[in-house]
Amino acid sequence: MRKKLVVGNWKMHGSRAANAALLSALKEAGPWSADVAVCVPFPYLAETALALTGQAILLGAQDCSAHEQGAFTGEVSSLMLSDLGCRYVIVGHSERRAFHHESDQLVADKAKAALAHGVTPIVCVGETLAEREAGQTELVVKRQLAAVIHTLTHCIGEIVLAYEPVWAIGTGLTASPEQAQAVHAVLRMQLHAATQKSASMRILYGGSVKPDNAAQLFAQPDIDGGLIGGAALKAADFAVICRAA
Ligand code: PGA
Repeated sequence: MRKKLVVGNWKMHGSRAANAALLSALKEAGPWSADVAVCVPFPYLAETALALTGQAILLGAQDCSAHEQGAFTGEVSSLMLSDLGCRYVIVGHSERRAFHHESDQLVADKAKAALAHGVTPIVCVGETLAEREAGQTELVVKRQLAAVIHTLTHCIGEIVLAYEPVWAIGTGLTASPEQAQAVHAVLRMQLHAATQKSASMRILYGGSVKPDNAAQLFAQPDIDGGLIGGAALKAADFAVICRAA
């Protein structure tokens, strides 16, 4: 009953020429039965929106401000993202939590700002290797999600959640389908306690999803698609992952 969603997170990669080539290869490779989106760097949003006109591939960004407008040099608001045709925005990616010191509350505020402007936040949660080894995985992801539930209250059912174990991102170490499913089930339970929409909410897995492991991950009952980094930069790999969903 949940339609799968595969989201490419291009991170800080690309150029106008490389993006054009990647997008045209994806257009050739689709359509897929899953929903598919690409989250591109800010400077390329407008051009990507044009390139995707009439295509089923949806547009997304990789971050947004918690504010709507004002004196926030360097920030990009979800109002602007909506103006550019973004359907999705990633918030709380572990790289932003780590390198930009984003707190659970800031991530929740960004999710709220996105929803206020009709952009669906893809809220990322996940534990570090040290946290997993200390047996704190559940504690950490539940704390991260709790801030979002508390801030969004009745709107929580509108988000997409992404479980991305930090130790699996860009490392080639994927959580096993069972490890990922166990955390997804915990998150679904937490959502269930917060909203009647929990059963229809999509929880994506991210962290070294590749063509050869995607199908097994997506076959898990609570894994509703993927957030794909490295493999989203190669059209052939991304297409296989989209097909697996
Ligand atoms: P990866 O990145 O697929 O390269 O591990 C996933 C992500 O960070 O969203």
